[in-house]
Formats: sequence, C-alpha cells, structure tokens
Amino acid sequence: MNTGKADSLAQGDGQLARILEAEAERQDSTINLIASENIASQAVLEAQRSPIIDKYAEGYPGRRYYSGCVHIDEIENLAITRARELFGAEHANVQAHSGSQANMAAYSVILNYRDTVMGMTLSHGGHLTHGAEVNFSGKLYRFIPYGVDPKTETLNYDEVEKLALEHRPRLIVAGASSYSRIVDFERFRHIADKAGAMLLADIAHIAGIIAAGLHSSSVPYAQVSTATTQKTLRGPRGGLVLCQKQLSSAIDAAVFPGMQGGPAMHTIAAKAVCFHEAVQPGFVDYQKRVLDNAKILASELQSHGLRIVSGGTDNHIVLVDLSSTGITGKDADTALEAAGITVNRNAIPFDPKPPWIASGIRLGTPAVTTRGFGPDEMKRIANLIMKVLSAASDAGTREQVRQEVRDICRQFPIAG
Ligand SMILES: *Cc1c(COP(=O)(O)O)cnc(C)c1O
Repeated sequence: MNTGKADSLAQGDGQLARILEAEAERQDSTINLIASENIASQAVLEAQRSPIIDKYAEGYPGRRYYSGCVHIDEIENLAITRARELFGAEHANVQAHSGSQANMAAYSVILNYRDTVMGMTLSHGGHLTHGAEVNFSGKLYRFIPYGVDPKTETLNYDEVEKLALEHRPRLIVAGASSYSRIVDFERFRHIADKAGAMLLADIAHIAGIIAAGLHSSSVPYAQVSTATTQKTLRGPRGGLVLCQKQLSSAIDAAVFPGMQGGPAMHTIAAKAVCFHEAVQPGFVDYQKRVLDNAKILASELQSHGLRIVSGGTDNHIVLVDLSSTGITGKDADTALEAAGITVNRNAIPFDPKPPWIASGIRLGTPAVTTRGFGPDEMKRIANLIMKVLSAASDAGTREQVRQEVRDICRQFPIAG
C-alpha cells in the first residue's frame, strides 16, 4: 500500500536503498569509458520516475485499449513529434522497449522466416541483433556477414557490394556497436538499390551524433533507422524506430501488438525530454566535445605506443588493440576496473582470441564528456590507463591510480 513518506525506499527497503546508494557512489567515483553508456539529466530522471509509471496504455495515441489516456496521448504525441523533427523522419515509433526490439520489429516487417539479410559480423563490430547465432536474428533469418577490410580495418564498400550482388539479400543492415569510423549510408543505399534490397540503418550508438549533425544522417537513405535513446542521445534506456511513411503502420503494428504489450509510458516521457534536450544549443557543443575527447584519447594512447584499430576515430569510440602489450582484453578490463576505470573488453577485427577473452578494449567518451571532462582529463586518463596496463597485476599501482581517479572524479561530480 502506498502510504506516502513512510514507504520511501530508505525506510521501506533499506537493503535495496543501500545497494542503490553504493551504485551511485561507484558511478560518481569512477571514470566511465563504456562507449554505450552515458549520464542522463535530472530532467530525464524526473520524467522516468513520474506517476505515469502506473498507467497502462496498450495501443497508440487516439486508439487505446484502456481509458484514462488523455495525458498519455499528449506525452506520446509529443515524443513522436520531437523525434520526427529531430531526425527529419516521416514517422517515429517511440514504444520499442530497447534497441534490440526496435530491430526485431523492423525485421518482422521487412523479412520472412529464413530470408537472406546482410549485417556486419559481431566479431568486427556488429551487434548481436545483426545475425549472431545465439540471437533471434541469427536463428530466424539467414544472415550473410560482412566485415572490415583486413588492411584498413574499415568497411570495404566494394566488398559489401560484391557480397550483396552475389547473395541478393532482402535487407542490408548498416551500423555497428564497435566501429569507430563514419558509416557511409548513402553508399549503403546505392548498394542496396543495386542488389534489390531494403536498407536498415542501426544508429543505436551514433544517434546523438547524427542528431547534432556531426555524422551524416541515415534517415534520407534508409527505409528504416533504429536507435537507442540511452547511448550518445543521453536519454532513458529505450528503443526508437524511424521510418518512411509507407512503412509506418506496419512498423507500429510490429511493435504493438506484434511483440510488445503496453508501452513503458514513463520511459516515453523521458524520451520526449531527451529529444527536447537534443535541440538545445548546448547539445551540438556537447557532441563536438565527445568527438574531440575521443580523438585526443586515441592519439594520446597512440603516443604511448598502443595500437588503435583503424588508426583512430571519427566518433565517440576508441577501439584499442592490446596484442602488443601481452595483456588480454579480459585482464585489462579487470585491472582497469580495480583502478576505478570502467571499460569493456572487446574483440578486434580478426581477433584470434575468443570474445570472452578478446584482444582489445573498447573505450568511449559520451559519459565522461557529460561530466565535463576535457582534453586535459583525456591526457591524464591515457596516462592512467598506461600505468595500469604496464603493471596489470600490481596492486600498489592500481591503488595509486584509484586514488588519482577519485581526485579527478571529485572535480567533476555527477549532478544530483
Ligand atoms: C546497443 C545496440 C543495440 C541494442 O540496444 P539494447 O537497447 O541494448 O537492446 C542495437 N544495435 C546496436 C548497433 C547497438 O549498439
């Protein structure tokens, strides 16, 4: 029963409250270089925890299976309008619970069981939902993987085109999770047209950069673009589908009732907030700083002798090849975590090691940039990473770095 003040978390469930507090403290006192994470604003958090968390609203604005949806409709319409304006899209579905479900919805509209699709292989930077065997995508559809060129470690569009003309897929999926270079959606569209395929752009990682106009948009070229709102877009955890008008009712029906029940309206409210934040003047500047910080981090690590996959970055991601250091990605992420720097182990293209071990780490700058870190902090972080990697099993070094990490974090507290 909701008894107001008496059932606040601290009083009603001290056990969980303490865990949440510890997590907030962990976030505040560590340097987060996980490329898919960010720090949502207080406004996003407020929308997400509002009383609409209680509201059921199966259906779409004006066509609900529940009554009492007058304000719910306003919220969803606002989110839809803002998403369409932000990305210049003809249609937006804001109900997809996650990026994976956005992809699932799009596939279910475009593809039949066992149809041929092309997607970037997970081992070269693609996502699970781009045809991994363990994922629904790999089980339901016949994915033909494409990867990066062994020399340049960037997409070789001629190769993609050759594969597409050979396999004649019904759909080509462009976009990735650990690819640090520009994706040429226009070229992908030419390839798709030539092969008689449709194009789906998965902009889960780069949606915020596209929204800021710092990466060319997929929307003019892809029939469908899917995104998450929690990564560079800096909103709540959730999915987004943008599509051309002729697919709009099929996409909506695929999300609900096709694969979801009621929408998470509190999250949709928070999505509306993040789309609003993305048109504020400071947002473009934020994304510029994200990109600058990534470039500086990459070049600093290079100057310390580390190899950066593809030689650098055009976005928020820096993929580091640790092969020459003799340290695995797994050992590196464990050692760095102990020193207060969170990253994720990541396969590098043509990685001889299994994904659980991996030869690389993936770094990203969205979260640290939100905290206010700039070029000086990037240089310090590169130094600290090198310190930890050059003494990966030395507890003293880790403790020393941990202290310095705390000092840096104290200068840039996470608001709230
Ligand atoms: C993160 C990501 C997704 C899925 O997002 P979830 O919200 O975790 O389901 C899909 N595609 C790509 C390329 C991603 O990076």
